[in-house]
Amino acid sequence: MKKRILTGDTPSGKLHIGHYVGTLENRVQLQHEYETFILLANVHAYAQSFKTAEKINDLVYQVFLDNLAVGIDPEISTIYLESGIPETYELYSFFLTMVTLARAQRNPAIKDEIQYKKLDPSMGFLAYPILQAADILQFQTSLVPVGEDQLPMIEQTREIARDFNAAYGETFTVPEAKVGRVARLVGTDGKMKMSKSGNNSILLSEDEKTLKQKVMGMYTDPKRIHPTDPGKVEGNPVFAYHDAFNPNKAEVEDLKKRYLAGKVSDVEVKESLFLTLNEFLAPIREKRKYYEDRPKLAKEILVNGTQKARKVVQETLEKFREKVGINKLIK
Ligand code: ATP
Ligand code: MG
Repeated sequence: MKKRILTGDTPSGKLHIGHYVGTLENRVQLQHEYETFILLANVHAYAQSFKTAEKINDLVYQVFLDNLAVGIDPEISTIYLESGIPETYELYSFFLTMVTLARAQRNPAIKDEIQYKKLDPSMGFLAYPILQAADILQFQTSLVPVGEDQLPMIEQTREIARDFNAAYGETFTVPEAKVGRVARLVGTDGKMKMSKSGNNSILLSEDEKTLKQKVMGMYTDPKRIHPTDPGKVEGNPVFAYHDAFNPNKAEVEDLKKRYLAGKVSDVEVKESLFLTLNEFLAPIREKRKYYEDRPKLAKEILVNGTQKARKVVQETLEKFREKVGINKLIK
């Protein structure tokens, strides 16, 4: 039997090029090797704000298209809607009893998110890593392709699996994280992480005109005023993107050299980045349009995917219930 992958995204916005290098690229490559499940995490989106249900549905659809657009093949991978598997809630509520409040609050990723999103966190928000543990463990997942910011979440999932197995005997596979070739892509504003909710992203669905505006407006080296001033390459997001997306390494090295020496303008470096990204996005836009134009096919993929995923989960849940003896008295 093939080992399994589970991974996914919160539909808090359309996916961006940070998602690509952090996790999507791994999903696309590994789907041939692993039985792959892609989660559209709509229940997680409610944990951020419960007031925007209709908006969440739109975004779920966009994130679904994003996954197909980068090359998730619905013939071999399963894409499903989180809320379509009610068994997840059963596992989640049990796992909630296994994690202390102090442990949940100690999670560094949760602390960071509360700070940069300026949240007054709900119970659901503090517990979202535990919901994520249910999402992952219910598939007996071996590998979780994620960006670096998600590593504390996977650690929490591993802890839950180990604690459960120690208490009730071998039940859940303890999964490993797999970080992409760029662990954490910087934002267009130079901030540490490109983020859906940070207003500092380049979307995978960006049209050419917006892409150009975003690239030309990017943060570079704030101390550099004239093209003849020597510039900084390190920490400069324009070069971080060149490194991540420009296949012409010689061109990147030449631009860096000239930038450091004050022999190239910001405009020239950005124009070449625009061309690079535009070329990278062209086939992604095309595939997206293919599915956008075929809403019946898209819906079928999602409905069938959710049904298939639920069957797999039900097997794990049977095992879980038996181990805990949770329904013994009514059997
Ligand atoms: P939000 O701001 O709402 O948290 P996000 O941009 O962080 O959104 P998520 O849905 O939380 O996106 O993350 C989806 C996946 O993409 C996760 O595996 C996450 O680690 C990865 N990821 C997100 N942003 C980046 C980034 N800038 N670089 C690399 N990987 C990323
Ligand atoms: Mg995030």
